[in-house]
Amino acid sequence: MVAMSNDRTQLTRRAFVAGAAGMAGALVLPSSPTWSMPGERSPAPAAYPFTLGVASGDPLTTAIVLWTRLAPEPTELDGGMARGVYDVDWELATDPEMRTVVRRGRAAARRRDAYSVHIDVRGLHPGRTFWYRFRSGPHLSPIGRTRTAPRLRDRRAELSLALVSCQRYASGYYTAYDDLAAAEPDLVAHVGDYIYESAGTGVRDESLPTAVDLPTYRARYGLYKSDPSLQAAHAIAPWTFTWDDHEVENNYAGDTPQLSSPTPLGRPWERRRAAAYKAYWEHMPFRRPAPTSADFRIHRRVRWGRVADIFVLDTRQYRDDQPCGPADIGPRCDDSLADDTRMLGGRQVGWLNRGLASSDARWAVLAQQVVFSQLAFVPGDPGVYNLDQWDGYVAARGRVQQAFTEHHPDNNVVLTGDIHAAGVSDLLADYDDPTSANLGAEFIGTSVSSGGSSALQSAIPTVLNNNPHIRWADTTRRGWVHHRVDRDSWKADFRFVTDATVPDSPVETGASWEIPAFGQLERTDQ
Ligand code: FE
Ligand code: CA
Repeated sequence: MVAMSNDRTQLTRRAFVAGAAGMAGALVLPSSPTWSMPGERSPAPAAYPFTLGVASGDPLTTAIVLWTRLAPEPTELDGGMARGVYDVDWELATDPEMRTVVRRGRAAARRRDAYSVHIDVRGLHPGRTFWYRFRSGPHLSPIGRTRTAPRLRDRRAELSLALVSCQRYASGYYTAYDDLAAAEPDLVAHVGDYIYESAGTGVRDESLPTAVDLPTYRARYGLYKSDPSLQAAHAIAPWTFTWDDHEVENNYAGDTPQLSSPTPLGRPWERRRAAAYKAYWEHMPFRRPAPTSADFRIHRRVRWGRVADIFVLDTRQYRDDQPCGPADIGPRCDDSLADDTRMLGGRQVGWLNRGLASSDARWAVLAQQVVFSQLAFVPGDPGVYNLDQWDGYVAARGRVQQAFTEHHPDNNVVLTGDIHAAGVSDLLADYDDPTSANLGAEFIGTSVSSGGSSALQSAIPTVLNNNPHIRWADTTRRGWVHHRVDRDSWKADFRFVTDATVPDSPVETGASWEIPAFGQLERTDQ
């Protein structure tokens, strides 16, 4: 049994106080007498079912995806729901008190999808704030706040963007998410390690069985998403999101599981990957229908006027196995330097090329998992590199840099997670030539809670010396990054939690960086 706190009153209050009231943006529906009445044709959940909160995702100019899951006992089989098909009513309003409802509807929550619902609300006005909630039987969900993207031609749009990744439940408290929710960003980008597939040790109990099939992956999402701070972050803004490795298994690569951990219980690898992908879909506000196999396209584009074009990448599903042996960090070999090495796969690279070629946004953004810029622990070849990162796939990185150079040579931003450390780097056309073209900047976003290494901090001066394009790094602190973006500049505040292993630790800005359009990265807080 896992101890959980679930302060619904607090979450609802947070959601209610969020932001200024939206402007009336669409047809106003008369209040429906059925909304406040229990449904008649469907069973009602036996206990309060909205224990995992609400979420929204992937804004288009006129559409937004709403999500919830019925789960009275979120770490139990089927979330504690008795078998059946349950009506879930939803409504979307232009005010936080839900007085001016502009859309409503009814969805069915089914056992095959873990009683989750994904609603693609269309026909909305661009660049507006909305509020939404769900009802099942007599139970009302908390209220969430969300936004549509600005018009595609909008040059004056601004984007307040939160970057998060790596939230091992056992390792710490999600204080970073409370701070994020208070900042009321327009959009949250999560770049992976939303769950960890096996139990870690630390300050919170996550001693569930290692996730290998649908029930065990679902239980992990049930535990992680029961956290009220994570729920507050989902309830404050739409998210765009992609997985890294731990949503399936540490360091898996495409069709290859990690060498040191054969798939438990003798299951074929494809079945484990399919279960992991399905459980991720069930717990996130996806626009696409559910995956039906171990193959599921997740790379997609989020456009924010003529300010930012965000390409959400998948660097796990299509990559070749990590080269040069089982160690993450080691010397390069022929495989890491081969011309045909794959990180994104041909289809995703083609899609990225076409997207960059068609983009008229000031900033082209890659929201992705692993460190992109060269990071030599020992420079040269073979040198010493982290071969799970783009450094292990040199020609694949070259194809992305070529796409930048040909189609969008200035003002590129790479947003990165995975390594539980914060950092800032110039993007260069050739990392072995410091005078080569500057393509933009990479922001590496530390971790929400997953443990970093204070020991590694002592290696930072050597790393910075070996890699002059890496401008700053900090391995010691957990948090998130608040990006504020318009056509003139990209500003990033690294928000650091003083100590994520204790609840409600203070959060402060530990470093601020800015890159002016067509300019160079500079630190602005010193
Ligand atoms: Fe991680
Ligand atoms: Ca990872």
